[in-house]
Amino acid sequence: MPRNDSSTSFSVSEELKLIPRWSVALAFVSFVGIQYLFFFVLHQHHRTPMAVHIYFGASWGALVAVYMLMIGYISEDAPRRNMGKWLWILLCIVLQGGIGPVIYFLLRQPLLSQCGCCGTRLESSFNYCPQCAYKVSPNCGVCHESVRITDLYCTHCGHDLATDNSPAKLRAY
Ligand SMILES: [Zn+2]
Ligand SMILES: [Zn+2]
Repeated sequence: MPRNDSSTSFSVSEELKLIPRWSVALAFVSFVGIQYLFFFVLHQHHRTPMAVHIYFGASWGALVAVYMLMIGYISEDAPRRNMGKWLWILLCIVLQGGIGPVIYFLLRQPLLSQCGCCGTRLESSFNYCPQCAYKVSPNCGVCHESVRITDLYCTHCGHDLATDNSPAKLRAY
């Protein structure tokens, strides 16, 4: 049942693979840019010790780089959850201080799965694909509540699931 597993389990390495190349490049460029700014621009004008510039350069650089990676991740993650990609990228840029990503992670919708038949994005509450009526999850033939594939009787109305002819249509399993 890979379809159901992918919407419930959370793997960090799988999530990190989402980060697009442009955002990794942007993170790298901003990190290097900030090092340049702190070492060569600020250090020329202020007589504070070199160590202070290294410290601030590295910490600000890391912060901005992580922020760039976050925006990249959101740009790939938002469409999977039926959330407006550009709206969230814009919010992350406009709302300074990392508030944008925080709001995003608080408000983000559950992952959408895909119809195994036509590829339409499906919300977790769907029992049937809205485009091709493909049966996404097993459900009771009488009350249409979701049931587990191992259930013999509906947990909502007690209907004998063996009398449904759903297995023929249940191509997902
Ligand atoms: Zn479909
Ligand atoms: Zn039922």
